[in-house]
Amino acid sequence: MTLRIGEADDILPFMKNGVTSFLANTFQGVDVQWQANYKYHFAKEHELLTYWGKKVTDNGSDILLNCWFQDSFITDERVVISTSRGEFCAKLLIDASGGQSPIRGKYALRENWYWWSVCGAIVNFPDGLPKGMQVGDYQLWQTFRDTNADENASLSQGRPVWEYEVLDENSAFVFIFFLGQFRVPFADMESEFLHILRNEPSTSDFHNVTITEMKHGWYPSGDEDSQKVTRNRVAFVGSSACWTSPCGWGASFIIANYKKYAHQLSAAVKADNLDKEYLAGLIQLTRRSQYQVLLDQIATHFLSFASADDLNAFIRLFDPNGELGAAGPLMCEKLFTLTITEEEAFLMLKLVAKNIGVKSLIETVPKEDYLLLVELAVESAEAAVIDIFHKGLELLHIESPDEYERELALESGFSITG
Ligand SMILES: Cc1cc2nc3c(=O)[nH]c(=O)nc-3n(C[C@H](O)[C@H](O)[C@H](O)COP(=O)(O)OP(=O)(O)OC[C@H]3O[C@@H](n4cnc5c(N)ncnc54)[C@H](O)[C@@H]3O)c2cc1C
Repeated sequence: MTLRIGEADDILPFMKNGVTSFLANTFQGVDVQWQANYKYHFAKEHELLTYWGKKVTDNGSDILLNCWFQDSFITDERVVISTSRGEFCAKLLIDASGGQSPIRGKYALRENWYWWSVCGAIVNFPDGLPKGMQVGDYQLWQTFRDTNADENASLSQGRPVWEYEVLDENSAFVFIFFLGQFRVPFADMESEFLHILRNEPSTSDFHNVTITEMKHGWYPSGDEDSQKVTRNRVAFVGSSACWTSPCGWGASFIIANYKKYAHQLSAAVKADNLDKEYLAGLIQLTRRSQYQVLLDQIATHFLSFASADDLNAFIRLFDPNGELGAAGPLMCEKLFTLTITEEEAFLMLKLVAKNIGVKSLIETVPKEDYLLLVELAVESAEAAVIDIFHKGLELLHIESPDEYERELALESGFSITG
């Protein structure tokens, strides 16, 4: 979406293929497939990082490789940073060191974040793609009966979910993920991943692949205010500042917002306006994004805590041959790309309540989320007003919904998906 609105044309050459079909399979028997309604690119991440690195040096900055941040000391006027390659002084420290940021650790900045823990690999198929597998297939959600002693274990209780995306005629990115309030240690993820890759009966297409590059990481899932973390003369960006949607669109969030943020931050540096309140004010989600984040947050917490049986019922909703018909897959994509309308959200909520049961839902959601549900009711009313206004413009044949959107974005700042 960010690419579509033209704010990231420069990175288009670093995208290839993309998702054409989504698949979902649970061990209880859900077997769903649909053609993607939206466009999702695969990024050539090494080339993209090289391009961005060159941009940085072309703009006159230095990059010190193999340089490890060790500590920082902040005074009213400056920051002193010690690294494995010496000490540096600056007006501002920008922390982009990811979800396990040592700088956040130093300031004991802890949030009520959830964590996506991911471990997988780029793999090659020695004899080409297995029969039935197509470039652009995206296995969104596959679970197994034998991964947990308790068959009904939730993701937060340690259930791994298997995913893969077929990148081209020879290779795929395969991984498992966990979702919960703690990060799963790498060693545990790695052994679980390798077991599922090589031994799980239903992943036989992958048993003899060659691993070309292991990948793992943790990225946070927060709320509408999570990005506002700052200290005097310290700005946090990317995963260290929870620049993700709750469902984990981190790279997307960065691509959608980094130019705008860099522009505003440059102005703040020039004006030496670098206290924590001012820096926090640079990040304001649009009204619409706030509503979408709230919904996405509730859905993500549900994914984390729901029992395997409830998740099975949830995933069945996205079956194009199921209760919602062709609207099912579209709702899934809209919910997780933060583009769902209020009407659609409430229809889905009603169906979830019907298929999973209100009692089960209430038991699933942690108590601290009850307030989120109240907030959602309040936000929905406000977001609905924005929608009605938008629809009104269309009815009056005023062909400027884009301008209206832009105005909204300017007034309130950042967006989640562009
Ligand atoms: C397997 C996986 C799949 C993902 N898939 C998607 C996806 O499909 N779509 C999407 O939008 N997002 C996705 N994400 C999330 C996305 O990758 C992150 O949101 C994004 O990489 C965050 O970028 P960042 O620069 O903030 O942090 P990172 O990419 O984590 O970079 C942090 C950097 O800081 C360095 N560092 C850490 N500590 C120090 C130190 N003390 N000194 C010096 N350097 C240090 C690290 O080495 C690292 O290079 C995925 C993440 C993972 C792990």
